[in-house]
Amino acid sequence: MNIVREDSYDFVVCGGGMSGFAAAVSAAKKGLSVAIIECTGTLGGTAASAGIDHLLGGRKLNEETKEHVRVVGGLFDELTDHLIGRGEAIEPNSIDLTFNPFGWYPRMASGIVVDETALKIALDEFCEKYGVRVYFFTVLAEAELSGNAVTSVIVCSKDGFVRIRARVFADCTGDADLCKMAGCPVFKGRDSDGLMTPCSLEMHVENVDAKELVSYQNAHQSPKLVEIIDRLREEGIWTLSSRIFVTVRMMKEDVFMVNTSRLVMVDGTDEESVSRAIAEGRKQNLELFRIMKAHFPGFQNARIRRIYDYLGVRETRRIDGRYFITIGDALSGKQYDDCVAATTYNFDLPDPVISGYDPMMGDTRNPNAVRRHIVIQVPYRALLPKGIDNLIAAGRCVGADRDVMGALRVIGPCMMMGQAAGTAAALAVRNAQDSFPAVSTEELRKTLWEDGVLDPAKLPFD
Ligand SMILES: Cc1cc2nc3c(=O)[nH]c(=O)nc-3n(C[C@H](O)[C@H](O)[C@H](O)COP(=O)(O)OP(=O)(O)OC[C@H]3O[C@@H](n4cnc5c(N)ncnc54)[C@H](O)[C@@H]3O)c2cc1C
Repeated sequence: MNIVREDSYDFVVCGGGMSGFAAAVSAAKKGLSVAIIECTGTLGGTAASAGIDHLLGGRKLNEETKEHVRVVGGLFDELTDHLIGRGEAIEPNSIDLTFNPFGWYPRMASGIVVDETALKIALDEFCEKYGVRVYFFTVLAEAELSGNAVTSVIVCSKDGFVRIRARVFADCTGDADLCKMAGCPVFKGRDSDGLMTPCSLEMHVENVDAKELVSYQNAHQSPKLVEIIDRLREEGIWTLSSRIFVTVRMMKEDVFMVNTSRLVMVDGTDEESVSRAIAEGRKQNLELFRIMKAHFPGFQNARIRRIYDYLGVRETRRIDGRYFITIGDALSGKQYDDCVAATTYNFDLPDPVISGYDPMMGDTRNPNAVRRHIVIQVPYRALLPKGIDNLIAAGRCVGADRDVMGALRVIGPCMMMGQAAGTAAALAVRNAQDSFPAVSTEELRKTLWEDGVLDPAKLPFD
């Protein structure tokens, strides 16, 4: 391999999604020299590139007061308050729950709808402000090790292969790419057959008559238009694998994100599988759009605004962390002395094959099915891959059962885990000989709460 250059930092974050962004900025705020390696041309990952524009898991509806209360704090609040203040995101508490195109269910209205371009620019601005060096269009290619440490990563950019050294590293690739390259044990998919939950390719449509759509949904108590889809299936018109219509209004009243394509049997870590899925996703969306225009209320005059070219991957690898959060832990509300993050979101991980069927959402076929909302704590050890001491993971690849990951993978908890990883990096470099397991979790937790992250043990939910 011809290495054209060598760069060096205190902390290198692989993957610039919302967890990587939070890890990098929180470490840079504490004085570390930090770089992000990102294979696309923007920060924000799935949130910004896949057309999600709807940040869940940072607020939660208090059923009694009907207020969307803060449940993450820290950088999530800093970022979203900044966007809301500039009119580039919608404050959930300003939404009328009786007319609610922002996810149709009051709990979904806790999501913060953001302007996609404004989000991308804000992420750039935060990095610039705190001096984070971002390597765009740069792919992580290899990890170089010495003993139980990663010494450097080899990345591939327009320049060629570059070696980047660091004292500590974070894997925020969503796919645990760096952990895998470093030889850490990882899991992928269901224990029984390795299958993963379906991927989706998002579509945004414009010129939608939101009032007509909402009137129909309210009148029929049918947020996902299931009865229309069932009829279309009987008539042979609806041949898509999904059996529900999932859509969320975006910043503009007539623009809707359509999260309905379901690409089953896809492996988001396999190039060929991803290449096939993205082409299939475009085809599915076009077919769906034709059906929506002809049969769904409010879509008669709609136009496709954009079909995204970043595949929405919900699930791939998870690390075998130094603690592994089981579904039993989650359902029993287990508490940990080293808790650094949490989720109050629901167990949203659709079945790999029967898309539209969510095994954790109150379906009686699943004994673990739950509808009630609980606080699932994340211990620091679940971010630590086995075998390598100067590597930490954050985001949707942490050490947890896949059902638990369904609740952790939304953006609020991902940023919370990212902030914990970045703060731990600062402590590892300052006090703990570049070792994440050696970080004092007491000091880490104290620092996080001082920095505005909300202590999950103090959340006003059970
Ligand atoms: C279809 C769909 C709909 C969703 N809807 C919502 C929603 O409404 N609200 C919500 O809150 N959450 C939603 N989610 C979940 C949420 O968006 C993601 O789980 C979350 O954003 C994951 O963040 P992350 O930082 O862990 O990973 P990612 O967003 O996956 O970020 C990983 C980053 O690493 C980069 N990367 C990966 N591999 C490499 C490599 N080898 N080299 C360099 N860079 C690399 C990627 O380009 C990406 O930028 C949805 C997810 C999907 C798929």
